[in-house]
Amino acid sequence: GDKERSGEKTNGAGLLFVPPEVKFTKLFINGRFVDAASGRAFETRDPRTGDVIATVAEGDKEDVELAVRAARKAFDHGEWPRMSGSERGRIMTRFADLVEQHADELAALESLDAGKHPAVTKAVDIANAVESLRYFAGAADKIHGETLKMQGQFQAYTLREPLGVAGFIIPWNFPSTMFAIKVAPALAAGCTMVVKPAEQTPLSALYFANLAKQARIPDGVINVVTGFGPTAGAALASHMEVDMISFTGSTEVGRLIMEASARSNLKPVSLELGGKSPLIIFDDADLDMAVELAVSANLFNKGEACIAASRVYVQEGIYDKFENKLAERMKSWIVGDPFSDPRVSQGPQACASTPTLVDKTQYERVLSYIDHGKKEGATVLTGGNPLVQKGYYIEPTIFTDVKDFALQHLYYLSDLGGTFAAQEGMTIAKEEIFGPVMCLMKFKTVEEAIERANDTKYGLGAGVVTRDLDVANQVVRSVRAGVVWVNCYFAMSSDVPFGGRKMSGFGKDEGMHALDKYLALKSVVTPLRGSPWM
Ligand code: NAD
Repeated sequence: GDKERSGEKTNGAGLLFVPPEVKFTKLFINGRFVDAASGRAFETRDPRTGDVIATVAEGDKEDVELAVRAARKAFDHGEWPRMSGSERGRIMTRFADLVEQHADELAALESLDAGKHPAVTKAVDIANAVESLRYFAGAADKIHGETLKMQGQFQAYTLREPLGVAGFIIPWNFPSTMFAIKVAPALAAGCTMVVKPAEQTPLSALYFANLAKQARIPDGVINVVTGFGPTAGAALASHMEVDMISFTGSTEVGRLIMEASARSNLKPVSLELGGKSPLIIFDDADLDMAVELAVSANLFNKGEACIAASRVYVQEGIYDKFENKLAERMKSWIVGDPFSDPRVSQGPQACASTPTLVDKTQYERVLSYIDHGKKEGATVLTGGNPLVQKGYYIEPTIFTDVKDFALQHLYYLSDLGGTFAAQEGMTIAKEEIFGPVMCLMKFKTVEEAIERANDTKYGLGAGVVTRDLDVANQVVRSVRAGVVWVNCYFAMSSDVPFGGRKMSGFGKDEGMHALDKYLALKSVVTPLRGSPWM
């Protein structure tokens, strides 16, 4: 009943996860926790209740200046870029070990700040962070150039030198993972850095900074300036002494980051932006597996995931069965507070639950999209409402009768009929909602599915579910996305490059390609005399 779905405490079991003490709330500059130069601070809130968790130093331009200066000094004169790769790797491994040892506390802190599930945060976010630090620790002593035999009496070799000071602007949906997947390759390369965490979730980055210090990463190598985007973030993006920026967040802000670079020192930027990823399920799919994939691909982390497969295309032969099964599946889904609701926290239900969205803004944004979907004429299969309780809980919402394509498809998809094809696509099928909202749609042919999957300004992820290898291959090769999952979704690992194309951005996090962003390639040419081979 309503009470079940609302996630109210019914057994008086008390707290299952104890909110941790907040130990670090100041900026981390040059190895010390310091107040903002302005003396100002801002509140970070617990989205389960809207209550203040902590007051955190509000860094702005002046603090970014100090942080960049510290990073610059650590790069230009410090030991980090100059020590051997294996020594850097050893220190990074120590950092990873410390993160692992503090996984419980870090996971609880992160979950409190971002409205996440502590057990899942530990198993996913923190585990990913540890893995990433270890992966790049292992890469630190495997950075080398190449020798080139030039035309004429010359030879060349290349050096891959640390690039300099990196700037990181990160989002609130996976703060720990984001921190680590940016910081780890930069550390391995010998760069120094300034991190600007999202204002919604500043706590874990400061906790990481403290562990970095304990691991004996030298002062000034990692600096953390908490604060807001238009002030601290913008100051970092436009700073003349910052040598590159890696950003994850919205496409709109990604554009501002590029503009800031263009107007300042033309620093290279790496952008991991929004998505509207398609999941294409064919008639021959294992129905149970396909339903589970569609659900997790949309509801993992409450849909606050850039790679959420928010457009699910199901082939017409199994569409009705799929829709019924999906609706049935959602009946046992729980929305509630994992800190205190045992149904949300324990057993197999742990992942079949949706905690609160990150904050009021995001909550209102998602609700307005749901409202828009209803007004545009889509049908609500499940959910569609917020929960009437404290916090920012929204029922997982599945829309059917969603129209996703525009007029141009009339010419390609001749078998679809004029009336359907003449419709404009609905907003809910086009824009990134970043919440627990799925658009379920029907298709006929492989070609049509590919066409519609690609009909988006984004190109981050895509999924295909089929037993037919030829169909899988065709989709894999045709879909314009950075990552394609076949018969799975969301599976990621430190060795697999991650990043999109089109308006989902460019540049890869994770995998050995990520190192290149933090290395300057230098070609050295020398005369070659007396070679026995020329
Ligand atoms: P955002 O892009 O505004 O924020 C991301 C980061 O950029 C934060 O650290 C923020 O402080 C910073 N920032 C904001 N304005 C800035 C500026 N002018 N200069 C420099 N830095 C700036 O994201 P949001 O507003 O928190 O969320 C809005 C939407 O963005 C979401 O609904 C979602 O669609 C998308 N988003 C995507 C991801 C992702 O992983 N790709 C993550 C978070 C949000």
